[in-house]
Amino acid sequence: MIPTDILIIGGGIVGQVTAIELAQAGAQVTVVDAGINAGSTANAGSLHVQMQSRFMRLYPDQVPDIEAALPLYCEAAEEWVRLDAAYGSFELVRKGGLMLAEDNSQLAFLEKKAAREAKKGVSVEMLDRPALERIAPWLGPQIVGAELCRNEGKVNPLVANLRLRAVADALGVRFEQDHICSLSVGHRVEAIGQNKTYRADRVVVAAAWGAGALVQGLGVMIPSVAEPLHMNITEACSARISQLVQHAERSITLKQFNSGQIVIGGGWSACDRGAHQVPAVDPLSLLGNVSLAARLVPTLGHVRIIRTWAGMNTTMDGASVIGPLPGCDKVVMAVPGDAGYTLGPLVAKLAASCILGQPDHSMIERYSPARFSA
Ligand SMILES: Cc1cc2nc3c(=O)[nH]c(=O)nc-3n(C[C@H](O)[C@H](O)[C@H](O)COP(=O)(O)OP(=O)(O)OC[C@H]3O[C@@H](n4cnc5c(N)ncnc54)[C@H](O)[C@@H]3O)c2cc1C
Repeated sequence: MIPTDILIIGGGIVGQVTAIELAQAGAQVTVVDAGINAGSTANAGSLHVQMQSRFMRLYPDQVPDIEAALPLYCEAAEEWVRLDAAYGSFELVRKGGLMLAEDNSQLAFLEKKAAREAKKGVSVEMLDRPALERIAPWLGPQIVGAELCRNEGKVNPLVANLRLRAVADALGVRFEQDHICSLSVGHRVEAIGQNKTYRADRVVVAAAWGAGALVQGLGVMIPSVAEPLHMNITEACSARISQLVQHAERSITLKQFNSGQIVIGGGWSACDRGAHQVPAVDPLSLLGNVSLAARLVPTLGHVRIIRTWAGMNTTMDGASVIGPLPGCDKVVMAVPGDAGYTLGPLVAKLAASCILGQPDHSMIERYSPARFSA
């Protein structure tokens, strides 16, 4: 049996940053993680702020939640800047994100989207082809214009994850590899794992796709769903792409790391093999994803893909779940909504503030797990 002040279930970006925040405040913290399918170790490092056309197309019913959360995304990008200054460098670059249009109807969609985003405080502007030519001369000739979101950027998640883990280790955070099967709440919270039992004063559930199953016996039905996604990375190349690149209609994100390599992804599916196995790469996603990249940035047609992989994203109702369970403040939820790596550090900070008794009600009210009360 492992006693601890605070048990954090899930050791991705949210679990790690929550652990750092709480250990810095003097708590004894244990992080327990099943050691499989963390979106944080598979993701592309895009810092998303503008509404993603992919998400709007796939989940139109969830667009109001995403739109209402735009100020949270702006703040989340700022949180990455603070984290990078405190513990980085995570190769953070903030030269904005371009969403490309290949025809006038896509341009009209982006114009309307930009107007909605501007009302929520997002820094957006429309660029015509000559304006694009000045900042992105590598784009294909068919691109007629783009929305530029200045809040967006990129980090190298491999670097960020390693550095944050080192910070947590130095603060004395204990890490356990185990799968938690159930939670019960009494005087303390008991978490029964496959290997060990853990007792804690408070528990933070930062288990992404695994969150719903963990708390379903505690009065909430959180619809966390695992979503297998595809990624590619190229060899280093001479292109100089400083922005995050997306498309008004097609699924893609494309960006360049400091190494010169281009990371290509943006929501192409992978083959599901269940939550307890890593998803398998789907060759059709590989071909579709990279040929779209080469259409948008023709020079990429001459660059080799050196690795592809698949990882587990998490979807819910489009919004984050942050804060104590209704009627049970010993269990605090910390599950980011869409673009969860972007939101991760801010969600972690807000969850930690609930544990420390200093919740920012204005920030977390709309993300309370109470909306899923059974
Ligand atoms: C291929 C891909 C690309 C992506 N690209 C981006 C991007 O560019 N930008 C962006 O913002 N977001 C991106 N995302 C989304 C982002 O990666 C995730 O939303 C984010 O990393 C989630 O962080 P997290 O800490 O909440 O959870 P995760 O990193 O998913 O970690 C959850 C952890 O909980 C553990 N766990 C689950 N259940 C249990 C249990 N019962 N007991 C113990 N442990 C458990 C899991 O093993 C896992 O390690 C991408 C996702 C994928 C898959």
